[in-house]
Amino acid sequence: MSDSCIFCKIISNEIQGAVIHRDEQVTAFRDIQPVAPTHILIVPNRHIESVNALEGSDEQLMGHLITTAAKLAKKEGIEQGGYRLIMNTGADGGQTVFHVHLHLIGGQMMKHPMG
Ligand code: 5GP
Ligand code: ZN
Repeated sequence: MSDSCIFCKIISNEIQGAVIHRDEQVTAFRDIQPVAPTHILIVPNRHIESVNALEGSDEQLMGHLITTAAKLAKKEGIEQGGYRLIMNTGADGGQTVFHVHLHLIGGQMMKHPMG
């Protein structure tokens, strides 16, 4: 837990977030500024600054992040239409919240090209 981290505060219920899934390892909540009809953030419950800070022992956790995204996509009814999973990292990657998060975005045709 980082005292200054907005996602840690959502995970610990210190501030209100539209939480839609919680388990021992990850929490998922709706993005406050959705860019598509479905825009969910899936985050590890433990504060990890970015993908750059991951260790070998986090591999199971990161796999769980992705399988949770797939389950939520199904729940949202967007698994057939398709969706995009994004993990922005660092300044050039467009990361603005420094707690690892996977964006699950869907419910509309995604724009190309990326970047
Ligand atoms: P990044 O740009 O770091 O990949 O994504 C951060 C995301 O967090 C943005 O899409 C932003 O809208 C979302 N976000 C920032 N602050 C909050 C908040 O307080 N609550 C929720 N639910 N989402 C937030
Ligand atoms: Zn955090």
